Amino acid sequence: MPRLLLLLVLIFAAVWLWKRWQRALAAVQATRTAASGGAGRRLSEPMVACAECGTFSPASQSVSAAGRSFCCGEHADRFLQRQRSAQR
Ligand SMILES: [Zn+2]
Repeated sequence: MPRLLLLLVLIFAAVWLWKRWQRALAAVQATRTAASGGAGRRLSEPMVACAECGTFSPASQSVSAAGRSFCCGEHADRFLQRQRSAQR
């Protein structure tokens, strides 16, 4: 009987240690997430599709012309030239 009691105490101690360890891990992860918050915000920048080729680029790096977004000035020029020739 004392053996069974010792086994129960050991199991309870193991569970208690496991829970403590998990709590410590969660605290470390929360600290890491808070520390990398700046990088996360930068990654959540909206992406816009180029009206000419369909390539997605960050909104801050895209070129806007005629109410549309483009991946580069060259594609904006090509799109506008095509539109102008279609109107004629
Ligand atoms: Zn493009």
